[in-house]
Order: sequence, then C-alpha cells, then structure tokens
Amino acid sequence: MAILAFNTPADAETGDHAAERMLRTGSGKGRIEGRDLTMRFSSKKGDVIALENLDIDIKPGEFLALLGPSGCGKSTLLNLIAGILKPTSGTLAIDGNEIKGPNPGCGIVFQHHSLFPWMSVLENVAFGPRNLGHDDPVGTARTFLSLVGLEKQSKAWPSSLSGGMQQRVGIARALATYPPVLLMDEPFGALDAQTRSIMQEELLKIWSKFKITVVFVTHDIEEAIFLADRVVVMKTLPGGIKRDVTIDLPRSRDPAIIKSELFNTYRGQIFELIREETLKVFGSHD
Ligand code: ADP
Ligand code: MG
Repeated sequence: MAILAFNTPADAETGDHAAERMLRTGSGKGRIEGRDLTMRFSSKKGDVIALENLDIDIKPGEFLALLGPSGCGKSTLLNLIAGILKPTSGTLAIDGNEIKGPNPGCGIVFQHHSLFPWMSVLENVAFGPRNLGHDDPVGTARTFLSLVGLEKQSKAWPSSLSGGMQQRVGIARALATYPPVLLMDEPFGALDAQTRSIMQEELLKIWSKFKITVVFVTHDIEEAIFLADRVVVMKTLPGGIKRDVTIDLPRSRDPAIIKSELFNTYRGQIFELIREETLKVFGSHD
C-alpha cells in the first residue's frame, strides 16, 4: 500500500517551492463559463450534434463531475474547455478569457496515459514547464513527482510502470505547469477497483490542497458522487445538461462514506436520471 500513497505537498517540497506557489496561484482562479454551446460533427454518415445549446458555470476551485452514458458528449465538452475542439457556436471562457485554442491554463489527464514513451518519467513531467519557459523545469518535475509519491521512479521509462503509476505521472505532469483548471477524462477507468479507490482518495487530497478547479468525466455514478461537489448529469444526443445535482456530503471524504444514507440517496436519484437517458437510446432503435 505504501507505494500507492501520495505524499502531501508539505513533505514533497524541494528547491523551487513549486507546490507552494501553486497553492497561492490556484486559489480564486479557474472559473469556467460556457454559453449556448453547440458542437456539431460532420461525417460521411451525416451530422452528429454532440452538444446543443448547453450553458455551464463552474466556480473557481469547484470539483465538478460530468456523468452520463457513453456517447452523450462528455469528452466533447471537456475537449472544448481544453481548447482542443472549437464550438460550432456559443462562447466558452476561463476567468473571462475566451478559449481560442489549446491553453496551458488547463492540465489534462486522459483515460490512457499520454506520456512520451521515449522520455524518462522525470523528463515527461519537466516537458510542460520547460516548454513554457519556466525556471528550473527539472526541479519542478521532481516536486510534483514527490507529490504523487513517485520520486524514486524518476529515471524509469513510462512503459515499465503499472497503470496506476502511469496515471500518477500523468497527474504530476498535468499539475507541473500550475494550471488553474485540471481536466480529467475517465482517468481511472482502466485501473483495477482497489487502485482506483486509492487514486480517488489521493486525488481529493491534492485537490483540497491546491484548490484547483477540477472537471472530471466518468460514467461511474459512485465515483462521481464520492469525488464531486456537483454532479452534472448529461443527456443523450443531442447532448446537454439533464440535471445538476449538488453533493452535500462532508469533506474530507473517506471511502466509508459510500455506506451512508445520504450517499445512497444520491446514488438512487442519479441512477434513475441515467437510466431514463439510457432507455431513450434503446427506444430510438426500436
Ligand atoms: P462521451 O465522452 O460522452 O462518451 P463523446 O463526447 O466522445 O461522448 O461523443 C459524443 C458524440 O459525438 C458521439 O456520438 C460521438 O460519436 C460523436 N463524436 C465525437 N467526436 C467526434 C468526431 N471527431 N467526429 C464525429 N463524431 C464525433
Ligand atoms: Mg468520452
């Protein structure tokens, strides 16, 4: 177990105090505002309206989960926020600045790690800060590897690490540019249940220290409730928001909370919302 435990920023500090710097800069930033967002994909088979007239507001430091059945537009919304996709219409801004392209203000973690296989773990994490011309990218990378408990793996190749460790490197890499927003697309979806549960807890520890805005895509109801301040349940195509559920569970959360009555109530309520949407997909094939 020890090898899976992340260190806290306090005991992870090294030379450049990057984590402390992030603690200061993360607070108060990371407001996301989307208005009347429509995303239409055109293909040979015809057009797909992945999102239609969607409005979304995410507060600085909020942990928001996007939940919904497969194909409902979760990744599309995440990629719009990341600036990887451009909306067909509508506006999207972070801290009042319109998103015009891939932006360093968003760290991204995907389901399958996207580490560079030809670079060491340390170089992977140093890549972002180096690219942005930050001082001491290697020192920063060491700090963030310590944060996720992987300082001993700094010289390893990504391929030699377990899936859980690769995702932790991915998190370190995403945080190393001090982004006010962390976007995560089913980041623990490929991990076994035990590792996944520990990663969820450790992610919450990092989030509560850094006060960073997190948008976390998942199709796992329990994961969404356990992690989030608010669960946005999405509609099937054309995608939009079906319901916004505020999760009033106390912080800090530990896994025993999933046995609580309130957790159960949220689980039942959200299960019904998703079931309605999934049935619509089945119905459309009749
Ligand atoms: P989710 O992440 O919720 O599973 P996505 O956002 O990936 O869903 O996709 C939403 C819809 O948009 C799906 O019907 C998908 O097939 C379609 N889609 C996504 N990306 C593209 C693309 N690049 N070209 C065409 N259709 C796409
Ligand atoms: Mg997806």
